[in-house]
Amino acid sequence: MVANRQKLQAVGEAQSASRSSKAKLVSLVVPVFNEQEAIGPFLDKIEEVFASLDPEHTYEVVFVNDGSRDATEFAIRSRMQNNRRISLVNLSRNFGKEAAISAGLEHSRGDACIPMDVDLQDPPELIPQMLDHWDKGAKVVNAKRIRRDSDTWLKRKTADGFYSLFNAMADHQIPHNVGDYRLMDRQVVDVVREMGERVRFNKAMFSWVGFDAAEVTFTRPQRKNGTSAWTYWKLWKFALDGIFSSTTAPLHLWTYAGAILAVLSFLYAGGILVQTLIFGVVVPGYASTLILILFFGGLNLFAVGILGEYVGRIYAEVRNRPLYVLRSVHEGQDDR
Ligand code: UDP
Ligand code: MG
Repeated sequence: MVANRQKLQAVGEAQSASRSSKAKLVSLVVPVFNEQEAIGPFLDKIEEVFASLDPEHTYEVVFVNDGSRDATEFAIRSRMQNNRRISLVNLSRNFGKEAAISAGLEHSRGDACIPMDVDLQDPPELIPQMLDHWDKGAKVVNAKRIRRDSDTWLKRKTADGFYSLFNAMADHQIPHNVGDYRLMDRQVVDVVREMGERVRFNKAMFSWVGFDAAEVTFTRPQRKNGTSAWTYWKLWKFALDGIFSSTTAPLHLWTYAGAILAVLSFLYAGGILVQTLIFGVVVPGYASTLILILFFGGLNLFAVGILGEYVGRIYAEVRNRPLYVLRSVHEGQDDR
């Protein structure tokens, strides 16, 4: 027991010794899709934030170019000449933000990772506070949006509705109004990297890992440059991915709905039987027959649809195609 404790202490000391001799590296994982105007202002801000930080912390920026068709790659590469902390991962086409973040996490080398948007809607000013919590031992630090004034009324309401519905059904809750912007310790990142699923909903995957999360709050500003690539249709499909990849509650619904309807039908059948026995055959019954056929027909289709949502996603998992395809990787330097 005592020997064990001594051993643990020795390991702890060795770890902190190696930490203090080397600055802690934070990887900023930034997916970019047609963001040529946003790269410059983003890097200016990041350089400013880290310049004012103690030398204990250093950073790298891992840009994942998600098949941009504008001068995004050029903008990044010209900044790479002056700042060696920038890496660039080019994907072969647009794979979507979730896959791009996975590619970025895969290529990050930091002791912690922070996925963030390039449009400054995830304010870099929060990073020092996040690092503070991390230094105190938090493995996860969530950045929570306390006000979403920059979003439209409809977007806020639909987002609220989604978080409530999701948490009512999912096995593992996701915090309200926390996007991908969060700090994750290497220990958490390594678990996320091990998760091989194709249908990805990062927010839920990050939360699934567990650990107590610290929290910092912010008001979400307007997008600085360019336009959002999200349409309501994309958000709807993304929400479905989130729900169907995180919970099987919609399937269980049919077990209960089926059972209740079976009991009701049985009672109804008994009623009809008794009625027929007492009053003989009564011909009218057209309306009730039609209503039942339509009702159960609709219900059947809906249930098959839900099954289909799962089957489609199982198909994507079984095919087991790579999540993204790399075109090229340009690594910056880790000069710790
Ligand atoms: N993004 C991406 N691939 C896509 C769509 C978006 O890498 O297919 C990036 C985008 O460049 C930005 C981040 O994901 O850095 C967030 O996108 P956006 O600002 O459009 O989303 P919103 O802030 O409206 O949620
Ligand atoms: Mg944005």
